[in-house]
Amino acid sequence: MMTFDICTLFPEMFETFTKTSIIGRAVAQGLIGVCTHQIREYSADEKHRKVDDYTYGGGAGMLMQAQPVYDCVSAVLGKADAGDRTHVIYLTPQGRVLTQEVAKELTAYDRLVLLCGHYEGVDERALEALDADGISIGDYVLSGGELAAMVLTDTVARLLPGVLGNEESAQTESFDEGLLEYPQYTRPEVWMEKRVPQILISGDHKKVDEWRREQALQRTKERRPDLYAAYQKRQEADG
Ligand code: SAM
Repeated sequence: MMTFDICTLFPEMFETFTKTSIIGRAVAQGLIGVCTHQIREYSADEKHRKVDDYTYGGGAGMLMQAQPVYDCVSAVLGKADAGDRTHVIYLTPQGRVLTQEVAKELTAYDRLVLLCGHYEGVDERALEALDADGISIGDYVLSGGELAAMVLTDTVARLLPGVLGNEESAQTESFDEGLLEYPQYTRPEVWMEKRVPQILISGDHKKVDEWRREQALQRTKERRPDLYAAYQKRQEADG
């Protein structure tokens, strides 16, 4: 079972996430574990449970202090089973961008410890001491790492065996082979005078596969020329 340990100031944000839809089912079936850890509980300031302070050098905003962050993540790591392959991730707009490839790479671990920043972020010394892998979910700035941690958990979890009801659906989705997925249709056959492409109801599976591949290539070329160029390059390299 893969465990996602989420270190956060807002554990309540994960309550619905861990009970709903595919992630909720995976948790209920024991395929994954999603545990939240309140960073505030590790504050050395027992009276006020303070976790943030002003930044050295001036500037607006508060920064999460190194001590509670480091102690929280260290405590989680300390509870890991011997032999667990663990990996500490700091969700940050400054990290490498989460792609399907990165998500696949992360499935190799037994335990991902996800650190969610807030305010202006986290004291750099804690991130260095934890040797955290910085991961961003895109080139924009969120108020906190919690939504990013949910995005990462969902993306990685659905690649794990048994999490999706139908194993095949993870294999034929967008980004498989670096291409976007072909268009899809369901009943009725005609809707607002628009007819489903006839090939899909022909019963000829070979032709359907060919059509889908062609559509995937065309769609990727039009919508994501960057992905298409990378795909072509790989094809050339493979001969
Ligand atoms: N001052 C930081 C900077 O410029 O890099 C941004 C801090 S942001 C307001 C607060 C927190 O949200 C960050 O510590 C991080 O955990 C999270 N966050 C913001 N944008 C993110 C993104 N694109 N991907 C992942 N996490 C993000």
